[in-house]
Amino acid sequence: MIDLRSDTVTVPSSEMRRAMAEAAVGDDVIDIDPTVQRLQERIAELLGKEAAIYMPSGTMTNQVAVRLHCHRGDEFLCEYGCHIFTYEQAAFASMSGVAAHPLVGSCGNLTLEQLVSARRPDNEHAARTTLVCLEHTHNRAGGKLLDWDEVLKISAWCRSNSVGLHLDGARLFNAAVATQATLTELARPFDTVSVCFSKGLGAPVGSALVGSRAPIAEARRHRKAFGGGMRQSGILAAAALYALDHNFERLSEDHANALWLADAIQNTPGLQIVDPRPDRLVDTNIVLFAVAAKLGSAPEFAAKLNAAGVRCFPFSATSIRFVTHLHITRTHVEEVARVLSQLCA
Ligand SMILES: *Cc1c(COP(=O)(O)O)cnc(C)c1O
Repeated sequence: MIDLRSDTVTVPSSEMRRAMAEAAVGDDVIDIDPTVQRLQERIAELLGKEAAIYMPSGTMTNQVAVRLHCHRGDEFLCEYGCHIFTYEQAAFASMSGVAAHPLVGSCGNLTLEQLVSARRPDNEHAARTTLVCLEHTHNRAGGKLLDWDEVLKISAWCRSNSVGLHLDGARLFNAAVATQATLTELARPFDTVSVCFSKGLGAPVGSALVGSRAPIAEARRHRKAFGGGMRQSGILAAAALYALDHNFERLSEDHANALWLADAIQNTPGLQIVDPRPDRLVDTNIVLFAVAAKLGSAPEFAAKLNAAGVRCFPFSATSIRFVTHLHITRTHVEEVARVLSQLCA
């Protein structure tokens, strides 16, 4: 099977498992686990922020960020297809009493103008708009990079209006490799950033929330209440440290394979890349493509792909998502292209 369902399907290598087995550990709830501490210091430094906190999932780091930035009854602005709004139930409401105010963006991008007009006036009729959440790269938009000039404008506006700015950077490592920007440059416009070690980096578990010292100390309290206090979690943090050392730069291979596959898809009759840019079909490691009606619905076409040994998820009634990752080689994507051309013949 060639598994293109997600970049979360990777399993740890024997070297990664050895790093996990040999990790120095302690009780990270009573005080601190030394390997977790090393990971937190490392990721804070990479992102150019004061502090970081390790948590079991990106959903938790995002939801703790919402809790940090918002009081009960506040609302945050976000893009309609973002993970926080689309794939985390309505945890901001059920856990924190916060409302989402989603806006439909273009390829994952919101404009400053949209945010300015959506922000509610400061009076007793309206919810307080205390946070903006962005996502980079944007998953549902097909791993798209954000328009950085707009991000900088949004950041300046948030700062001068006392609105918090959180980044869901589950795939910030992909963004860094694709744009050749440093993680510090990519984190600078934001107050808090969530990154996932369990996506393209290929660690089995975990995310970090990164920001200034005081809010991250407060995040430690929320993590405990959300059920994220873990004891000898250095075993997991060791895998993330290993992933940062060995699996970061190589994300460029995933991007090259995604681009190769996107090119093959664009040249297959009946298939079409969703929202390609004028100069490149995909930005990073996610390939979203539409299936012509004569080939069946996307779920039907995905079922045929699965039967032919290519695991994938339909993304909508008409589109399918492929994600390249650590276990996917050029030979694999060539095989996928062969299967696609057979199914479309
Ligand atoms: C995967 C992902 C997350 C976090 O997911 P978890 O499964 O909770 O770790 C957050 N945001 C985006 C964009 C993601 O793709």
